[in-house]
Amino acid sequence: QSTSRIELDEGNDELTHLSTVFNDMLDRMQRYIEQQKDFVEDVSHELRTPVAIMEGHLKLLNRWGKDDPEVLDESLQASLQEIERMKSLVQEMLDLSRAEQVEIHYKNEKTSLKPLILQAIINFKLIYPDFVFNLDDDIRDEIYVSIYRNHLEQILVIILDNAVKYSSERKEIHVSVAADNQNVDIAIQDFGEGMTQEDTEKIFNRFYRVDKARSRYKGGNGLGLAIARELLIGYKGTVYVESVLDYGSIFRIKLPIYQNEIKNS
Ligand code: ADP
Repeated sequence: QSTSRIELDEGNDELTHLSTVFNDMLDRMQRYIEQQKDFVEDVSHELRTPVAIMEGHLKLLNRWGKDDPEVLDESLQASLQEIERMKSLVQEMLDLSRAEQVEIHYKNEKTSLKPLILQAIINFKLIYPDFVFNLDDDIRDEIYVSIYRNHLEQILVIILDNAVKYSSERKEIHVSVAADNQNVDIAIQDFGEGMTQEDTEKIFNRFYRVDKARSRYKGGNGLGLAIARELLIGYKGTVYVESVLDYGSIFRIKLPIYQNEIKNS
């Protein structure tokens, strides 16, 4: 609270400076505590809902549902879906706490871009058969980026997952790649709900969600993009979004091209 802030009369430059530093620290701690509180609330809610849904299905099966193949199938599918949600929430929480407490192990390895993107799209087509995933056909085979492949996979999954989650009736996702000698640009475009200019800057902040209720209903917790950005920064990359409200968004991932060591001959 502001009661514990240091307030000084003007005059002593060093003390004034110290008090500014101290007050900044206090403000940051305060914000951090508030974010943590929000986070615990969000996580509890996130975990409570799938547990309640699964409990409902299991009780139904236990009473009579197991004798009806259709009900059995539906309840099993629904329960599995809820388990997936919980798993990804727990995974994201773990990633986040690892990112904060333990250093992420950034491994600058030579990763071939095209097969990784192709695989991600095959996976998404399997999980979301009602979506159309368009991929540029002219992605060169020999583009290599400097990043640990699991980290790039994780970043792609976060952004593709959002593209699906925040799509509207037009269930279409476009993926394209542009590269020069230095960098590669991966663009992931959706035609969903989009966002205001103001929100394009905030969505990479931890816990920030444009529409808390809607995002939560869609399985969101406001961590995905914060993780993606944190990972990319570690590889000297960036991610940003161009978006138009009610029209859609393009997320652009920028990464350095893998540079072969110069051979002395
Ligand atoms: P969440 O788990 O809520 O999806 P993210 O960090 O991945 O968390 O995203 C933060 C917020 O950014 C989301 O809640 C949503 O409001 C907004 N957002 C992310 N991707 C998109 C998108 N493709 N279209 C519209 N809004 C998006």
